[in-house]
Amino acid sequence: MSSEFDIIRRHFTRPSKSAELGVGDDAAIVRPKNGNSLVVTTDMLVAGNHFVDDADPTALGWKTMAVNLSDLAAMGAEPRWALLALALPEADDQWLAEFAAGFFKAAETYGVELVGGDTTRGPLTLAATLIGEVPQSAALKRSGAEVRDDIWVSGSPGRAALGLAEAQGKVKLDTANGPCCADALLRPQPRIALGVALRDLAHAAIDVSDGLLADLRHILESSGVAADLFDADLPWGGLPIDAHADPLSRQCLLNGGDDYEIVFCASPDRRLEIAGLAERLALPLTRIGRIVDGEVGLIRLLDDDDQEVPFEIKGYDHFR
Ligand code: ADP
Ligand code: MG
Repeated sequence: MSSEFDIIRRHFTRPSKSAELGVGDDAAIVRPKNGNSLVVTTDMLVAGNHFVDDADPTALGWKTMAVNLSDLAAMGAEPRWALLALALPEADDQWLAEFAAGFFKAAETYGVELVGGDTTRGPLTLAATLIGEVPQSAALKRSGAEVRDDIWVSGSPGRAALGLAEAQGKVKLDTANGPCCADALLRPQPRIALGVALRDLAHAAIDVSDGLLADLRHILESSGVAADLFDADLPWGGLPIDAHADPLSRQCLLNGGDDYEIVFCASPDRRLEIAGLAERLALPLTRIGRIVDGEVGLIRLLDDDDQEVPFEIKGYDHFR
């Protein structure tokens, strides 16, 4: 049976590359590049709440890193270092090896170094803290949206929620759509390159962790503005056929969480540059609406005749 220190040494200690001091002392020491600000975030995944007990450990390792990377992406930060706090019901070496493989795969993919953490016994809880860098004053905040800005979203929000619905047996997706929705749920791709590129293009950004409408509303509230969205312009094309008419797909696109796409606001003057960016990143960027002067936080969803389409906002709230 492994001890706490065996677990740390065997599974979570790798040679330090960019930290002055990594795993093994009382704390790590890191140094940002000259003139940069540090951007720090933490997010945890709790068994029974964010994932089922028998979830694939490699996918959990990836996701523990990816959900935090997504917050750095939404700030326009370049990821650098991570801390990993684990509560484990038991020292299961096979489980830990698979979890670590997924975690380090994401870390290597996005250039992050694990520099410390904590390991205790307890109900399975996976908490990472990430540290990234941005040039001073360049970070993307929720509060910068301006009236007349375009509202954009990356990728195909709704896929992760559809993947979850399929895993729960609520829907059967065809072979063309099933795998990409499952992948969106299990192996989200944090939009780091997009976030960095948006530093000079966007006025505000947020990542879609709770749902497209719920997260857009956070931008509106922070910026003191309202939004008009155009129903026909939402990225229905990335979801299974007939998504526009299918109630479950509509629900997943508007309110599904866990996609880790980026919603951002930018001046209409930047449309060409944003189209070029989508091409360069091979990532669809869809213009879905505009920021308007109205009741703060209010979202209107409009059809082709400018009539309001009814909808509900159902962002996830752990205490509701
Ligand atoms: P302390 O008691 O001084 O807090 P610990 O015994 O908790 O130290 O941890 C020893 C070292 O191992 C520290 O550098 C800590 O950051 C690191 N560490 C502990 N758990 C993890 C983990 N899950 N992943 C990475 N590093 C870890
Ligand atoms: Mg100590």
